Amino acid sequence: MQETEELFRSMARPAIWGIEPYDASTIEEPKIRLSANENNEGLPPSVLAAMRRALAGGNRYPDSRNTALREKLAACFSLRPEQIMTSNGLDGLFTMLGRAFLAPGDEVICGECTFGVYADTALIAGASVKKIPLGEGYGQIPADFAAAVGPATKMLFFCNPNNPTGTLADAASLRKMLEDIPPRVAVILDEAYFDFTGEDGSESFKLLEEFPNLIICRTFSKLFALAGLRVGWAAAHPGLLDYLYRVREPYCVTSVAEAGAIAALDEKEHLGKTCAAVAAERGKLCAALRRCGVGYIPSRTNFVLIFPRERYDGLAAAFAQKGIAVRGLSLRKERVMRISVGLPEENQQVEMALGEIFG
Ligand SMILES: *Cc1c(COP(=O)(O)O)cnc(C)c1O
Repeated sequence: MQETEELFRSMARPAIWGIEPYDASTIEEPKIRLSANENNEGLPPSVLAAMRRALAGGNRYPDSRNTALREKLAACFSLRPEQIMTSNGLDGLFTMLGRAFLAPGDEVICGECTFGVYADTALIAGASVKKIPLGEGYGQIPADFAAAVGPATKMLFFCNPNNPTGTLADAASLRKMLEDIPPRVAVILDEAYFDFTGEDGSESFKLLEEFPNLIICRTFSKLFALAGLRVGWAAAHPGLLDYLYRVREPYCVTSVAEAGAIAALDEKEHLGKTCAAVAAERGKLCAALRRCGVGYIPSRTNFVLIFPRERYDGLAAAFAQKGIAVRGLSLRKERVMRISVGLPEENQQVEMALGEIFG
């Protein structure tokens, strides 16, 4: 036993010895899943039908660069198809970034409390991580990120809106950050939740003309309801993407997933309604939190981070009792919960649990 453990350790690269494997699997399927910021409405029938049709062609390799999807995205967001790369979820894109740009000794900058995959991307490559503290109101301050760039910095992740705090940095301070960061640093703007902010979804792409080191990331996993199909995409300078293509798995987005993503982009009206419903339900959830005196961070996304403080365990038990899964996290050593905004009947259950513990 001991011997094989040592054997496997010696087989693995030392850089990965300290990394915790990502495992979000739950043994029991919860009745109400509010732990992964998914779209709980499910798939529109048109998207399901498109994927069923694509399934019949499953004997063929997909188009390796997903040209049809890139053309569709380009048309939707006023981009050129060459500025777009698809990936096996955004997680797949971060893998490519690490492989293409990072080496031992490099430094990666990201937020103090942000999406965990950024730090893992660095550690897997043997790079170090510099974490930038949250500012007042738990927002990420773009100027602090820019000021932290040093000679070893190769990559900087700015999640906007940030997961798990839900805060959005404004466009002017982001532009200033980009101006202040030397072009040798790859800046990754992760906009996985941008669809929920109500801001113009094409605006940040205009920055690409000015900043060749900028990589803007979006995903079909959240608003677009395709988390299980794994489609992410990045917009960046075609010359930069050329280096990512060198390390990209050739067929990382399946033909079924591509068909689903293309069909989802046609569901503008439906998605608009979903966004409005999420905003309305988030408002109700926050009102309930205020009534109960539970601290939370105002959110621009489909989740809210709450501070149950000394009643954390009680609330966790109340959620478990109702079959509600939420995400437990820590923020400056304090236990906090990230609750996805679900369907009205799901959110009612959340409010009931809150009422039981804080009412
Ligand atoms: C969910 C999420 C992603 C995307 O995940 P994929 O499913 O791999 O596309 C990326 N960044 C953040 C901050 C997320 O929360």
